[in-house]
Amino acid sequence: MKILVNGIPSNLRFSSAHVIPGHESCGYIHGHSYFVDIVIEGERAGKFDFVVDFKEVKEYTKAICDELDHRLLIPVFNDLVEFKDFDKEKDSIFNLKKRHSIHFKIDGKGYTIPGVDCVLLPLPYTSAEELAKFFAETLARKLSETYDNLKYVSVCVNEGIGQGAEYRKDL
Ligand SMILES: [Zn+2]
Repeated sequence: MKILVNGIPSNLRFSSAHVIPGHESCGYIHGHSYFVDIVIEGERAGKFDFVVDFKEVKEYTKAICDELDHRLLIPVFNDLVEFKDFDKEKDSIFNLKKRHSIHFKIDGKGYTIPGVDCVLLPLPYTSAEELAKFFAETLARKLSETYDNLKYVSVCVNEGIGQGAEYRKDL
């Protein structure tokens, strides 16, 4: 059986800035009001015969939304994104996150942004596609700590109404 959670009425939303390095029109920093829809399939199980508890699904997803909300999302592993004094191959992203200011170039354009204004994501892009994969994998990992009856977690990250990308993480 499947359960569905709709992002707009469930308040699984975030407003963030991002950039698609090298893209003709999306290569400039711009924003979206995102919302996240979820489908989870699994066997019904446990004391209440649920697939999964809606409350937990919403709580875990909201926590990811809150982390990204009102921030600039930077894809650390994009080839066109270079950080000052940071080697992507050797240095830990956690050290980069601790910096007061983040100095970086995107496709040759230089930026200095306060660390608290950014979220550094271990992704090649902060596209709807990559964000959907990030949400699905993070949510699946969290739910797997307490559930062993789930078949997959599918997440659609919508860049506003009418366009979104869906990723299914099989368990
Ligand atoms: Zn965009």
